[in-house]
Amino acid sequence: MRSISILLIVITVAVAGSLWIRFEGSPPRLGTLEGPIPIGEGYAHEIRISDPESGVESVRAWIDTPGGERVLYEEHYPGNPFLGADSELEHRISFPIPVRELGLPDGPATLQIEVIDYSLRANRSTKAVALAVDTRSPRVSLLTGLTYVRRGGAEAAVYRIDELVEGDGIQIGPTLHPGFAHPERGDLRIAFYALAPDADSPAPEVVAVDLAGNETRVPLRLGIIERGFPKDRIELSEAFMQRKVAELGNPGDGDPAAGYLELNRGLREQSHQKLREISANSSGDRLWAGPFAQLPNSKVVAVFGEQRSYFYGGEAIDSQLHHGYDLASTAHATVPAANHGVVAFAGPLGIYGNTVVLDHGLGLASLYGHLSEITVEPGRAVRRGDALGRTGQTGLAGGDHLHFAMLVNGEFVDPLEWFDPKWIREHVEPKFVAERDDEAAVGDRP
Ligand SMILES: [Zn+2]
Repeated sequence: MRSISILLIVITVAVAGSLWIRFEGSPPRLGTLEGPIPIGEGYAHEIRISDPESGVESVRAWIDTPGGERVLYEEHYPGNPFLGADSELEHRISFPIPVRELGLPDGPATLQIEVIDYSLRANRSTKAVALAVDTRSPRVSLLTGLTYVRRGGAEAAVYRIDELVEGDGIQIGPTLHPGFAHPERGDLRIAFYALAPDADSPAPEVVAVDLAGNETRVPLRLGIIERGFPKDRIELSEAFMQRKVAELGNPGDGDPAAGYLELNRGLREQSHQKLREISANSSGDRLWAGPFAQLPNSKVVAVFGEQRSYFYGGEAIDSQLHHGYDLASTAHATVPAANHGVVAFAGPLGIYGNTVVLDHGLGLASLYGHLSEITVEPGRAVRRGDALGRTGQTGLAGGDHLHFAMLVNGEFVDPLEWFDPKWIREHVEPKFVAERDDEAAVGDRP
């Protein structure tokens, strides 16, 4: 009799105790982006919910539409009020908000979220998330008309976008050449782009994607000036290959031809990837002015776009495009900056050996390769003519010379255009003119 009473007391205390625990008052945790969130068709909202005390019982998300309240997501999780649910569990949820199907007009909307836990008090957390519905694609007006571009050359387009964008630029082939705020006209964008020597049927477009993800593409009217590129035959001597393969880390397991191929292809591609990364951090300011200066007292020994066939022991083992100008002067000649800019890179760069890359802003860069000595460090601002280092034959170079290249957003372009004052005057400067165009004159400004 007495032991039964004790048992009853123990059970009562246990039940009361567990009920007391199940009576906790902390609301569930609800993590979500804070609004206002720009949303377009195709938007999915993400939330994270958890309840470390009792576990999550349910979640519900809904939105007011012209046709009434619409539930976007609803879920009940297994568990019960006496034992709760797995309190360790964090639920990550994503649900679409199909704005067109819901009939949501462009403008503000409110997403409501409610989460309830397994406490006997059914604690709830609620959140109202402000949304900005935007289903309209950005309007892009091109100010640049029909443009003639030489194969291997560069050009720039100027355009206006009527709303804030997340990304914009000129898509040509696989490359998006980013747009920058126009230095003279705050309401305009400017993007330089490159027409690769080997690009087949490029159909360049201005691309603009707004904050809600709506995209607009406008074709650029391009006249392509075709041209031929010189061919060159390069004989690789055993001694040269062995020296360079040893100098550049001994790839190819002792076979100089295999090692050389690895450098000429693999290391070349790595070097170019690195240059694309450097170019992606270009300044939004135009740092350069006027034409680019060629290495003084130098002789051009190879031009841009040259198709080089590499022969070893009478056999063609590789072919590559030459992406710059080879300029020969006296050995260890001082290499001056071709224009104003900032040192974006200074050090060994694969096939280019000791290399300096100058950022000129708006995606434009110049490269100085095969140097024997570098006298600048990254981050230094330079003026045209400032010494960067001395010529040499580091990297894949057979004799003392400067490999000079121009890059537009990491793509090589013909330096000849940038050396040419007439080309700069006719193709580049007009894009920077601050005068208002006809189209802007009929706009909303006085
Ligand atoms: Zn070269």
